[in-house]
Amino acid sequence: MAEYRKVTCILCPNACQLGVHFDKDKREITDLENSRCKRGIKYAMEEIFDPKRSVMTVVPIESKSWKVTSVLTAEPIPKNKIFDVYDEVKKVRLKAPVKRGDVLISNVCNLGVDIIITRTVRE
Ligand code: SF4
Repeated sequence: MAEYRKVTCILCPNACQLGVHFDKDKREITDLENSRCKRGIKYAMEEIFDPKRSVMTVVPIESKSWKVTSVLTAEPIPKNKIFDVYDEVKKVRLKAPVKRGDVLISNVCNLGVDIIITRTVRE
């Protein structure tokens, strides 16, 4: 079935407002408006048929200086898995010291992506 959606390409500062005509059943883009370069179609394909997002949140930590530390997915994950990932991260409690770059959860939800600590807490 033919559909239309507006998508903002975020691959560069031009932020083209793409007009995407697509067929959901065939998983194909039939027409693309307002794309200033070829990367727009790749971005539109992913955003329409396989949207992904990076997930950033905080985790409680037992320490002298901080109550939480920040964490981030090492790569964007499928948008429909975001709440599953939050649920897994919510189970974790940390104790200082932790170092920026440490893996908090390896292969979270079997997505092939790690959750990484992004703030060092020494004590
Ligand atoms: S379509 Fe090309 S020019 Fe436009 S925002 Fe995306 S990458 Fe930049």
